[in-house]
Amino acid sequence: MAPLPQSSAENGPDDIRPLRCYVKGVCVPMPDPDLLSIVSVISERLGEQGLLVVSTGAGMSRESGIPTFRGAEGVWRRQRAEDVATPEAFHQHPRLFWEFNDHLRQLCHEAAPNAGHLALAQLEQRLLPTQSMGLITQNIDRLHERAGSTHVLHLHGDCRRVVCPHCGFCDDEYPVPAPEYPPSCACGSLLRPDIVLFGEALPEEALTESFELAERCEVMWVVGSSVNVQPTASLPFVALEHGALVVEINPEATILTTEATYSIGSTAAKILPALVSALLERPNQNRGPSCP
Ligand SMILES: [Zn+2]
Repeated sequence: MAPLPQSSAENGPDDIRPLRCYVKGVCVPMPDPDLLSIVSVISERLGEQGLLVVSTGAGMSRESGIPTFRGAEGVWRRQRAEDVATPEAFHQHPRLFWEFNDHLRQLCHEAAPNAGHLALAQLEQRLLPTQSMGLITQNIDRLHERAGSTHVLHLHGDCRRVVCPHCGFCDDEYPVPAPEYPPSCACGSLLRPDIVLFGEALPEEALTESFELAERCEVMWVVGSSVNVQPTASLPFVALEHGALVVEINPEATILTTEATYSIGSTAAKILPALVSALLERPNQNRGPSCP
C-alpha cells in the first residue's frame, strides 16, 4: 500500500461548502464549516458497527487522466460516444466500435490510481472489524482494484474484460490493445468489452446489491458523480430516505448538492486523503498504524 499523500494547504475550509446541514431533520446553518467537524459527525453516525457506502462516478477518475465519457473533453470530440458505444454500433460497425472502445481501454490501462483511489483502499483495510464498507462505481477502469480495494460493485462493467455474447466466453485480462479489430472468439462470433453500452440495462445483481447497500448504510459518500443518470442517480436519495448521512464530493454542483447532508466542493484526489486520514485518526477508529 502506497503512503497517502499529505493534504495540501488548498484543502482548507474554503473547499467545503455545506449548502445545507440537517440536524434531526431540521435545516440549520452551519457556522465555520471545516473538515474535522464533518468527520466528527460522520464518525458518530458510523459508530463501531456502521456501514459506509462510497459511490464513485467519472469525476473520480478524471484526476487519473481519464476523461468523462459524456463530457466535451478532448478525445471524444471527433466521435460522439453515443454513436460508437451502442449495441447497434457493435453489430453494424464492429471495427469502428472496437477502434473507439480500444482507445478507451488503452487510456484506462495506462492510467494510474490517484490519491483518492488510494485513500479509499486504505480506508477499507483499516476499518474496525465490526464496521463494513461498500464501494460502488460507475467507472470501467478498474482503478479502485489497482489501488487495493478488494470488493467493488461495477455498475457499468469493466473494460479490460471481454465477453462473447454467443458462447459466454470471458477473459478478465484480455490484451490491451486488442490483437485485431474487431477481435473474434474461437466460436466465430465477435468479442465485445464487458461494459454497459448506451441503451443497455445495468447488471441486475450489482444494481440490486447497490440499492440494498443504500438502504442499509449509515453513511454514504458520493464522489465525482454527476448524479444525472438513472438508476444510479437514485442511490444517494434512497440512502437519505432511509436516514443515512450523505456527503457529496464534487467540484461542480449537482441535483444532490442542496439535498445532501454535506456537499464538499472539491475533487476526489484533493479531499479524500484528508477525509480518510481524519476519520482514521478518530479515537474510536484508531487501530494504530496500518499493517505493512
Ligand atoms: Zn464465443
